[in-house]
Amino acid sequence: MSLPSQSVHIVFIPLLAQGHMIPLVDMARIFASGGAVATIYTTPVNARRFRTTVDRCGELGMPIQLVEIPFPCEEVGLPIGYENLDILPSPELLAKFYNAMGKLQEPIEKHLREQTTAPSCIISDKYIFWSSETAQRFGVPRFVFHATCCFSVLSAHNVKHSKCSDLITSDMEPFEVPGMPKGFKITKAQLPGTTVRQQDFEVFRGKIQEAEMAAQGVVLNSFAELEHGCIEAYQKAIGKRVWCVGPVSLCNKDESDMFQRGKEASSDAEKCMAWLDSMKPQSVIYACLGSLCRLAPSQLMELGKGLVASQQPFVWVIKRGEGDSELENWLMEERFEERVKERGTVIRGWAPQVAILSHRAIGGFLTHCGWNSALEGVCSGLPMITWPLFSEQFANEALLVDILKIGVRVGTKVPMRWGEETKVGILVREDEIARAIDALVSEDEEGEERRKRAAELGEKARQATQEGGSSHSDVSRVLQYIMAGPTQEAV
Ligand code: UDP
Repeated sequence: MSLPSQSVHIVFIPLLAQGHMIPLVDMARIFASGGAVATIYTTPVNARRFRTTVDRCGELGMPIQLVEIPFPCEEVGLPIGYENLDILPSPELLAKFYNAMGKLQEPIEKHLREQTTAPSCIISDKYIFWSSETAQRFGVPRFVFHATCCFSVLSAHNVKHSKCSDLITSDMEPFEVPGMPKGFKITKAQLPGTTVRQQDFEVFRGKIQEAEMAAQGVVLNSFAELEHGCIEAYQKAIGKRVWCVGPVSLCNKDESDMFQRGKEASSDAEKCMAWLDSMKPQSVIYACLGSLCRLAPSQLMELGKGLVASQQPFVWVIKRGEGDSELENWLMEERFEERVKERGTVIRGWAPQVAILSHRAIGGFLTHCGWNSALEGVCSGLPMITWPLFSEQFANEALLVDILKIGVRVGTKVPMRWGEETKVGILVREDEIARAIDALVSEDEEGEERRKRAAELGEKARQATQEGGSSHSDVSRVLQYIMAGPTQEAV
């Protein structure tokens, strides 16, 4: 498509992972409907997942383009088509994957040079550290996108800079982190950075930090009312602007946008939506643990048994390739779906998560606390059962449970490494899952108060994105910053 030449032109470069691409594509749509021109760079396999969404925006008159740059799999020794973290069969291939991502810099810069509309700014994932150099070459600001909340970014920053964990001898002892909202505690074992083996990524992490220091600002998918002062604190800590422009998922207003977001929905999805129509309002628990993890079949069986044991209606999302034949055999032997058909349904593959969470029959969300999922739960005003797996998910859990008081823990205390989920076997037992669900749906005072707080927060999320709301205003501030050029007052 040809882009208007006089506008602010924002270039989006997401990390090739669902939890990073989905929010950046939404963000591009938000800026495009706010008057900017948006270009999103990705690779062919990922473009196929987002093409329909972006084309629909184009039809609505938004100046937004999705540009495909071939992913150099062969050049780095990756099997062809391994273009998204959810396709990588093992973390052993991560170094090659990031190497291939680095090789996108040159063709992206070439493509940018050929455009009639010069870039005005780059918003890129924190992992795309080389885009800092690209921004300098084009003489434009770069804003870093963290695919999580400010609360968890600040907690990691404060742990590092205060060295508060140095004196803690046990990995399992919860400790307070200076400068964080009261009530927040974490253990050494739960700190982010344990997702992949440290030593492999020291150099990479250094580059990410260096590029973040050189950036002009930070853009997050969150909203001020959720962050309990963390935005101001992080802004002060890094001496840069921090803008919250979310929840970005709320830009998906019509059904087709909600239904097809991030990937084509599984063929089970339509049936699930029809089944939800037949269920009582706020009665169903939606259980989905994100796009990346692949739990051990034994752990997935515990989840299935826990859902059954709780007696609560449920939707259970099982990713393709998760548990594979061992889980499928168990489901068959147990006649699982047949036994639960009155009150439970399974989606195999990609669930239309935002559409499901927005359904009036959903009353709770069993989540791994990936930030997008957590925030989508907040948007739907849902209380949550929290089951963090790795990365910053434990900090996100603390925000949901201890600060916002809208969650109930299943009680897992130790993270697993991504790609090594099957090695740890069972971390959460059937009875712990059932107990957490029962606590969440309980009609006692605690349960009622939790539901009330969750509903209020959902309302605040909506208000934040409306005219005059905090996130709506931050979108305008980002655009003003870009238009004013580099002469910005310090934070
Ligand atoms: N998602 C979805 N359907 C699925 C699984 C995930 O739509 O079956 C979406 C979900 O709505 C969220 C994203 O994928 O936007 C996952 O991001 P998150 O940060 O929650 O977790 P991750 O997948 O990165 O662990």
